[in-house]
Amino acid sequence: MEYAALVDVYRRLDATASNNEKTAILAGTFADADADHLPLLVTLVRGSVFAAWEPDELGVSSSLATDAVVRATGVDADRVAAWEEASGDLGNAAARAAENATQQTLFSTPLDVRSVVETFRETAGYEGAGSQGRRVDAVANLLSRADPEEARYVVRTTLGHLRVGVGEGTVRDAIALAFLTDLDPTDPDSVSDLPDGAVASVERAHQVTNDFRVVATTARDAGETGLADLDVELFRPVGAMLARKADSLAAGVDAVAPAGSALLEHKYDGARVQVHKRGEEVRVFTRRLADVTAQFPDLVAAVREGVSADACILDGEAVGVDPDTGRPVPFQEFSRRIKREHDVRELVEAIPVALYCFDCLVVDGESLLDAPLDERLARLDAVLDPVPGDIERAAHVRPGGEADAEAFYREAVDAGHEGVMLKNLEATYQPGRRVGTMMKVKPTMETLDLVVPRAQRSSGRRSDYLGRLFLACYDAEADAFREVGRLSTGYTDEELEALTARLEPLVEGREGPILDVRPEVVLEIEYEEIQASTEYDSGFALRFPRFLRVREDLAPTDADTLDRVTDRYESQSA
Ligand code: AMP
Repeated sequence: MEYAALVDVYRRLDATASNNEKTAILAGTFADADADHLPLLVTLVRGSVFAAWEPDELGVSSSLATDAVVRATGVDADRVAAWEEASGDLGNAAARAAENATQQTLFSTPLDVRSVVETFRETAGYEGAGSQGRRVDAVANLLSRADPEEARYVVRTTLGHLRVGVGEGTVRDAIALAFLTDLDPTDPDSVSDLPDGAVASVERAHQVTNDFRVVATTARDAGETGLADLDVELFRPVGAMLARKADSLAAGVDAVAPAGSALLEHKYDGARVQVHKRGEEVRVFTRRLADVTAQFPDLVAAVREGVSADACILDGEAVGVDPDTGRPVPFQEFSRRIKREHDVRELVEAIPVALYCFDCLVVDGESLLDAPLDERLARLDAVLDPVPGDIERAAHVRPGGEADAEAFYREAVDAGHEGVMLKNLEATYQPGRRVGTMMKVKPTMETLDLVVPRAQRSSGRRSDYLGRLFLACYDAEADAFREVGRLSTGYTDEELEALTARLEPLVEGREGPILDVRPEVVLEIEYEEIQASTEYDSGFALRFPRFLRVREDLAPTDADTLDRVTDRYESQSA
């Protein structure tokens, strides 16, 4: 398949704001693709050549991509930078540079989809001295064979940001439409007729595999039955099951398990980890599916010592411990362990880790996803030989009544934990889903996880820093971010400095004093109230937002959604 044909799909996607039309464009493309191209297309339409769980990244920053554009077109760097600033996108600048190219390749074969994917995948594997230069060469080589439209999308794919408004849900629906129904995949009206069951089976298969390549191919070759047979595999992380917030302990207990079979656990303030073990081999993945095994040799050792199963997947929270007091350290402190990939020994001693296990997804080759929590925990207990302070079951209780539950909650908070989790013991494990059978209760003001799409410098003493930040929630339907307010308080000087350093490389353009920032950084924000407002494009404004912390563990699309903000707003006035 020629790359130009894929570019044509991108242009059609870009030309419509209608989600149904986008779905039909994708479904038609998937239905027409041959067996070799289908797995390539399902990731390319979201600007990636990897499945969600794969550890690789292209490793090409926007300044390296600019070098590649300059190298391929002969247009000088200042002009490329000016075009980028004017249009807010290096892809657009690359298209202009290609139009104005001063050097033409003498002969060139048209780009094809497969070789573009192969080049990107190879590039991701470059390591060591000279790897940056080799990456620039590889991208420049593609660009020198690209026409302006192709150049636009090669660069956007290089940066992992395609700007055609295709979210995971759109790809999911398109796979269902293309392969699980008799509806005309190219007709946008078909999308409204998509059976819920077809969508749900693609969704589940994706949460279990985190790989649309496997999902699309299976849907095509083996339909819904084939999708249902897809299961967890060791060393391929599964989407973590997520909790909803409860407004109070009593309301949460009622909501989670109306029939009275609730389990309460400490809510630890650390990092969600999924531990995969086979024999002596142990891998640790974060909630964002990143492999952090190298950062946690102590956790790996604890799993080898405390887990007797030969093969299993455990779900739990890794918490940093103060070696002097034995109390949990604040998450900010612990997050240093997640970031430090090399020379970890010193930090292992300064901030030892404890793993609190609270679920078990596989034991000795048997998937437990469809078993009730009760049974999964029994299996966990059977394979876990706790090493206190290193690896343990999460502290838990089955409260006899409200007073029991209250006492446990107070004890959790007094011990320095965030609050408690409430769980329905009959619930199955729903990978990647935020479920009503698991709820969290914390004794704080309301919080939201929000993305920073624009920023401005502070005034006065802090004018070197980006301290006035716009906050946005995620509009999952449109795959876009909608602003809900502006933040200017809550950070210490050190936090502000670190945040500025994190945001500055993401600046993509400016309008007067306001900088456009690539929406990547997620902040946890405390606020007093949500008001209706015409000032922001979400239709809402937060009253008194305060910075709590950076959520490096969340992807921008994990931010709280516009639906949730709307719900919170409505429940306030209820
Ligand atoms: P939040 O990140 O505020 O949405 O809260 C949910 C997170 O709490 C989970 O993703 C886990 O990382 C963490 N957590 C801490 N303790 C537990 C527990 N006992 N059960 C489940 N999740 C827990």
